[in-house]
Amino acid sequence: MIIELENISKSYGNGVDAPLRHVLVDISLKIESGESLAVVGPSGCGKSTLLNILGTLDQPTTGTVRIDGEDISTLNDTQRAGIRNRKIGFVFQMHHLLPQLNLIENVLLPTLILNDKSQRNAAHSRAMDLLHSVGLGDRVKQHPGQLSGGECQRAAVVRALINQPELILADEPTGSLDQESAEQIGNLLSKINIEQHVALVLVTHSMDLAGKMKTKYVLNQGKLK
Ligand code: ADP
Ligand code: MG
Repeated sequence: MIIELENISKSYGNGVDAPLRHVLVDISLKIESGESLAVVGPSGCGKSTLLNILGTLDQPTTGTVRIDGEDISTLNDTQRAGIRNRKIGFVFQMHHLLPQLNLIENVLLPTLILNDKSQRNAAHSRAMDLLHSVGLGDRVKQHPGQLSGGECQRAAVVRALINQPELILADEPTGSLDQESAEQIGNLLSKINIEQHVALVLVTHSMDLAGKMKTKYVLNQGKLK
């Protein structure tokens, strides 16, 4: 999968009842399959806005987003949601696991849309394998409240992987973790990128984590450098 941002700008406010703010200014960026990229920058500089535009969760004020050559502004919400579900995995600062579901149920949430039984069975065994691979194989029946923050975040990474995405977008994925858990999550994401060739774009304050990525950008005053 290739995502291209072409001359993307994003502004908030209208200058009348809310101040006009140009958060992203004329950004062009191409993300090719398997690549790894970190975006760093001060709080409030627009990192999440950029990531959300990349993930089709938000739309730019001007400019074009293309996924595999297709201008996504020509798609409706259902089509965009379909692309997200099939091709992109999201990891956020908070794990956003549902407290009333156990780990395996949480991980399988993005697969509920599958109505074919054999596909569902395959997803289940894949979920088990992935949970084992991140050291949570004996915790699958436990609920998020019974696990540490780092364990929950590992499960959230597994959930992001369950539909075999081509791209993972991670917004400060280690931002709420202690140093040891942060390192584990960083290594896990990096391993997925290298071994499974899943492209990785992450926003982070950690120079350690940014250093694991092939390309590093600084977002400042609306520009990527
Ligand atoms: P970062 O992730 O780098 O901390 P964000 O992308 O969340 O920054 O936000 C960038 C700027 O855009 C901030 O000043 C924020 O207040 C503003 N902003 C974000 N979302 C909205 C919104 N929905 N309406 C108005 N301003 C927003
Ligand atoms: Mg942010």
